[in-house]
Amino acid sequence: MMIDLSTPIDVAIIGGGPAGLAAATTLKAAGVVRVVVLERENTAGGIPRHCGHPPFGMREFKRVLKGPTYAQRLVERAVATGVELHCLTTVIEAKIGGDLLIATPEGVLEISARRVIYATGVRETPRSARLVGGMRLQGVVNTGALQSMVFLKQMRPFRRPVIAGTELVSFSAISTCLHAGIRPVAMIEPDSRTTARWPTGLYPRLKRVPLHLNTRLVAIHGDKTVASVDVEDAEGMKREITCDGVILSGKFTPESTLGRMGHLEIDPATGGPVVDQFSRCSDPVYFATGNLLRPVETAGWSWNEGCQTGARVADDLNVKLPDMADLIPISIATPLIKYAMPQRISTAQSGGMKAIQLRFNGDAKGQIVAVSAGETVGRWPVNTRKERRILLPIRSIDMRRVAEQIALKYLPA
Ligand SMILES: Cc1cc2nc3c(=O)[nH]c(=O)nc-3n(C[C@H](O)[C@H](O)[C@H](O)COP(=O)(O)OP(=O)(O)OC[C@H]3O[C@@H](n4cnc5c(N)ncnc54)[C@H](O)[C@@H]3O)c2cc1C
Repeated sequence: MMIDLSTPIDVAIIGGGPAGLAAATTLKAAGVVRVVVLERENTAGGIPRHCGHPPFGMREFKRVLKGPTYAQRLVERAVATGVELHCLTTVIEAKIGGDLLIATPEGVLEISARRVIYATGVRETPRSARLVGGMRLQGVVNTGALQSMVFLKQMRPFRRPVIAGTELVSFSAISTCLHAGIRPVAMIEPDSRTTARWPTGLYPRLKRVPLHLNTRLVAIHGDKTVASVDVEDAEGMKREITCDGVILSGKFTPESTLGRMGHLEIDPATGGPVVDQFSRCSDPVYFATGNLLRPVETAGWSWNEGCQTGARVADDLNVKLPDMADLIPISIATPLIKYAMPQRISTAQSGGMKAIQLRFNGDAKGQIVAVSAGETVGRWPVNTRKERRILLPIRSIDMRRVAEQIALKYLPA
């Protein structure tokens, strides 16, 4: 469907994954007249389109679905509420004030919206950014690429790959392989335990995939296609594993290129746009939601964030959110804290996100304290492992004592 340029657009949403579709559906349900989703792929639904396994949909549909069914249901629900969905439509530039340059099958167009929501999700770190030596060969893929080859194109790129990483998505790589008759020869992890929570570490054993902890990928060898990899253990001992492919899984990074190239402030810690507790970016016409905010949460979590962001944008079209000048920046004062999101909160107005989302770079047991002008304005106990989600309730910050900014510190027990 060609995009109608003659009628004003109330809200344009960049990205038709779970978060973008949830925001769009919520906006329509709240009575917003014209809500447009712009999706670069030929079908909306985002990452779950190629996750051919359960469990998706418990929060949204109260049942366990496979990724593609879940994605399709989200699309159907959005369209049924009157959301205008434009696939094969890539936003190539987002300008101050809500003007978007879009590449469509009919050519490049410029549209304008009263509000814009970024919902462009995350991607896995490619090989180039992982500092793995060796040749550029066929058969080195991320999990996302593997899933779309297997589930969308019925391809089998290799038969005996090595999987690098042990995040949740790495286990999904095992199940994708097994679905396609591919048998991974090893799963490797530089840490002494798997990144995903127990009991995921039992899954490779159950599926007879050897799991090598304290082992990192050093180089990939072969001639045109992969023939082996070099791995190194914690003592620096190297060895070769024969294989015909490599799956570089996880190490997610927000898909924030558009905002980065444009005018939005980007948080180097999350890799996503800086937002306040109302999901509002540094340009108040723009909002952000879903996994773009920070790596990485599940589809259900991202969907829920999309619903909430949609409701906030609907409010913002009627009632103004607090002035940007009244927002207090949150900074991280301890390197062990990986990121904190939102990066700005309002001392004057409640509402919006209920908690600051936090992750650590390593294990931590002690306290997180919020300090403002030398005074402690919040304190929370913490007992966590690397990469676990932590939620700090915003209401436990003593807003009356907050000065110009809040620094988050970790005090070990
Ligand atoms: C490989 C991989 C596997 C995963 N597996 C699981 C899993 O098994 N279970 C789970 O719960 N979570 C999984 N996740 C996490 C996943 O990010 C969430 O499930 C969920 O998809 C997040 O929703 P989202 O809407 O924020 O982003 P996405 O689903 O990533 O949707 C973003 C959408 O934005 C579109 N887009 C991006 N840039 C543009 C642009 N410039 N113009 C127009 N459109 C654009 C993309 O095409 C995409 O459709 C996985 C993630 C990855 C990367």
